[in-house]
Amino acid sequence: MPVKNRFAELLPEITAWRRDFHEHPELLFDVHRTAGKVAVLLREFGCDEVVEGIGRTGVVGVIKGKTDTKGRVIGLRADMDALPIHEATGVAYSSKTPGKMHACGHDGHTAMLLGAAKYLAETRNFDGTAVVIFQPAEEGGGGGREMVRDGMIERFGIQEVYGMHNMPGIPVGHFAIRPGAMMAAADQFEITVTGKGGHAAKPHDCIDTTLVAAHIVIALQSIASRNVDPLKQVVVSVCTFRTETEAHNVIPQTVLLRGTVRTMDHKVQDFVEARIKQIAEGTALAHGATAEVKYQHGYPVTMNASENTEYAAEVAREVSGQVDTDTPPLMGAEDFSFMLNERPGAYIFLGNGDTAMVHHPAYNFDDNAIPFGSSWYAGMVESRMPAA
Ligand SMILES: [Zn+2]
Ligand SMILES: [Zn+2]
Repeated sequence: MPVKNRFAELLPEITAWRRDFHEHPELLFDVHRTAGKVAVLLREFGCDEVVEGIGRTGVVGVIKGKTDTKGRVIGLRADMDALPIHEATGVAYSSKTPGKMHACGHDGHTAMLLGAAKYLAETRNFDGTAVVIFQPAEEGGGGGREMVRDGMIERFGIQEVYGMHNMPGIPVGHFAIRPGAMMAAADQFEITVTGKGGHAAKPHDCIDTTLVAAHIVIALQSIASRNVDPLKQVVVSVCTFRTETEAHNVIPQTVLLRGTVRTMDHKVQDFVEARIKQIAEGTALAHGATAEVKYQHGYPVTMNASENTEYAAEVAREVSGQVDTDTPPLMGAEDFSFMLNERPGAYIFLGNGDTAMVHHPAYNFDDNAIPFGSSWYAGMVESRMPAA
């Protein structure tokens, strides 16, 4: 099963969908036009069931195989949302909405999965049920979590779930995957330091929150460098440092710090959370100030099940013969993790060639990747549920 010939024929049509999505980017859950078009197309293909409004604006299509002797159900997932970035690609089909663009290639993911759905609805050469999942709000909104909370997994009886993301820097047609942690858990923290504000010329009458917060920022860097096993992955980044005044002669009463924590395993995650609290509160106390820490868990680790990783790699091998099965994990996070927490499955990268990185204003999805991506999606269904 190399790239399926049908996808060479369908390429102009799939490319046209992709470029249409690219021209009309939508953010987070506000993907009404995109989701509407996805639903119309899925109905046109003859899907057995198309359900809109799952996880607010998610769409699910159900395609039954020629037979269903074993009750098998495989889920395939793509994301539909764009980013609040001003496009700088200069392509003819650039975003028509200033300040919004498909800078993560979700236009490509949606188009490739639509292509696979069209092929699967035409051929139905499998024994079981394929469920195609189009989620909103991957970029920080937790659209995948919302679809899971809406009961999607149970409602459609999904037993395994597979996702894909394009990746610049990997040649087009090449795949990359690894068993275990593929993407990090992304948490947020906020620290409010409270001291005693006052006149900057009388620091002895104040408790200088700026100085205390600066000590906390530096001390937090000891978590990664001194506390966590150097062979485990961890990122602690303080990204906001806000005093309540912009004056040059006022010691602020409070300072706000905000940042992100990226980890690959639960023990490290819990440990870092506890250390941030200890360090912030202890450092504040040492200076006579107080620190209040709020810590919020975000997207969990994207965890590829070993067996399913092998299935995904095997299909990729058949599609292009080019699969790296030991790609390094990334410290970015992925909302598909909520689906992988519910059912075994795997998440794979598909090369986007030598382009700007995702989330860059000059990034663009490479349409040459479409036949590979659509073939992989369709191949997962045919190989996991071979025709009876
Ligand atoms: Zn992204
Ligand atoms: Zn993305």
